[in-house]
Amino acid sequence: MAKYIIVGGVAGGASTAARLRRLDESAEIILFERGEHISYASCGLPYYVGRVIEQRDHLFVQTPEKFGKRFRIDIRTKTEVMKINRSRKLVIARNLVSGEEYEESYDKLVLSPGAEPARPPIPGIDQKEIFTLRNVPDTDRIMEFLEEKNHRRVVIVGAGFIGLEMAENLHRRGIFVTIVEMAEQVMTPLDYEMAAMVHQHLKMKKVEFYLSDAVAAFGRQNNRILVELKSGRKMITDMVILSIGVRPESKLAREAGLQIGPCGGIIVDEYLQTTDPDIYAIGDAIEFPSPIIGKRMCIYLAGPATKQGRMTAENIVMGNKRKYHGSLATAIARVFDITVASTGISEKVLWEENLPYEAFIIHAPSHAGYYPDAKPMSIKILFSRKDGRIYGAQIVGYSGVDKRIDILSTLIRYGGTVDDLAEMEHAYAPPYSSSKDPINTLGFVAENIMAGLTRIAHWYDVDGLLEEGVCLLDVRSKEEFDDGSIKGAVNIPIDEIRDRMEEIPQDCPILIFCWVGLRGYLAERILRQHGFENLRNLSGGYKTYQLATLKQSNEDIFEKDYIGVDDSIYHII
Ligand code: FAD
Repeated sequence: MAKYIIVGGVAGGASTAARLRRLDESAEIILFERGEHISYASCGLPYYVGRVIEQRDHLFVQTPEKFGKRFRIDIRTKTEVMKINRSRKLVIARNLVSGEEYEESYDKLVLSPGAEPARPPIPGIDQKEIFTLRNVPDTDRIMEFLEEKNHRRVVIVGAGFIGLEMAENLHRRGIFVTIVEMAEQVMTPLDYEMAAMVHQHLKMKKVEFYLSDAVAAFGRQNNRILVELKSGRKMITDMVILSIGVRPESKLAREAGLQIGPCGGIIVDEYLQTTDPDIYAIGDAIEFPSPIIGKRMCIYLAGPATKQGRMTAENIVMGNKRKYHGSLATAIARVFDITVASTGISEKVLWEENLPYEAFIIHAPSHAGYYPDAKPMSIKILFSRKDGRIYGAQIVGYSGVDKRIDILSTLIRYGGTVDDLAEMEHAYAPPYSSSKDPINTLGFVAENIMAGLTRIAHWYDVDGLLEEGVCLLDVRSKEEFDDGSIKGAVNIPIDEIRDRMEEIPQDCPILIFCWVGLRGYLAERILRQHGFENLRNLSGGYKTYQLATLKQSNEDIFEKDYIGVDDSIYHII
């Protein structure tokens, strides 16, 4: 009878345990979990804080008792695995209630210990009103604090997916939310101009936020927390949520002499085996090569963890047959009224990796524009100019974002190209899509670029092009132009282009733009066929340019502990 030990009982660990039992009815399976709960919905915790999930019980997908009984698994909660003795193939576990330590042998060991929130050594960080959010006890502490009295202000440090989900949920409870983010943007998987849309949305929701700034120290004033930023700014708050990222919990593996990678994750091969063939590792704790750029990465997402768990159980019971192909880090989050999603590699990573690529942005309605409630959706795509292979995509919108990101992720997973996007067949009726879905439009634009029918410029190229003496041609209507345009632009509306061609200089490079890029493309095609050659169309149009060049932070709106002047609210998306 084989004996399997699993360390960690939430996403990856519980998934491994259940699959092991389904495949091997006779095995002895022991699951160690440091905490009190197993198989709970960590992804649901922010929504419990926001009272969207009303009952605490609903967070528990399984209880140790029910799970243990159904799968005949020996579940040992409140028990921490302290050490692995690889030569004797055993672990040393400590019962955290009684303090008792004991050995347990294994034939195969699975590590799914997850990742722990970073807590940098900032002065004053140990105050009781400064929280992190990883598990149920963390959530209970936050909830208890919130129920205690009517707290008015929270400072959230770090604007990743979890930080923003917490922002939304605390705001829902009527608390004034301030976010402090060290980077120049929120949500690092997004490129800057896509994050700029999130910034403007946060302004509309009256969330205060400081970008390119960081906490220098936490102090105390009038029995509340004083947050001092590196910029010198100070603010008083009732509570702080730290969500500045996580790091793999790989100490146990490191101390056992297993190989650890540059991100601090446990190195595994394609069968999810560590450098010891009797030990597998999965989930947030591992490092695995990106299927796109081949570089080892840590991916902190529930989907990969649970699927790796299932795969590992199969490899253990049936021999190493299931190969893991790596994660594209496909992620989605709701941020107030908008949905933000990404898959694959961003432009910043392609830059860093020095990989040649092409990128562009489209803005399209979520479904047929003539059918009520179509909502704007912005999609950025990155692909190889050489063979059209898709590297990554990012979407910000209101509805239908999930469906489009999943299509893109599936295509990337199976080596799809931009030609596949153009031909992608989708289910269409007016409430859901258009006869040409935004996914098809991505393919059409990419094909036009590859075929040389259009040459695009990006928002960040504009200043450089102006220095080189480019002439700006705004082909929107006069009303739109009067509302604001790029400085120095000449306005010739698209429908007047053919009649006013003599006004367009032949001897200067021309950057054409409209609101989203479509009319600009039409103007470019007309002009090219009339002999103009040195032309470019601004990708994503003036909408993207304006969003990316606006002031991004939203400062000092709670200066006097009420919502004050919000200097720049842009109802753009
Ligand atoms: P975990 O699920 O974290 O489980 C690890 C367990 O191992 C922990 O319970 C820990 O106590 C235990 N453990 C560690 N060391 C030991 C030891 N030595 N002995 C015994 N037990 C040990 N992902 C998404 O894809 N979408 C989301 O919307 C999303 N939202 C999230 C929201 C929050 C607030 C959080 C915290 C995470 C969210 N995630 C989300 C991430 C997702 O929860 C993780 O990627 C996933 O849980 C990782 O699974 P895992 O098995 O690797 O680790």
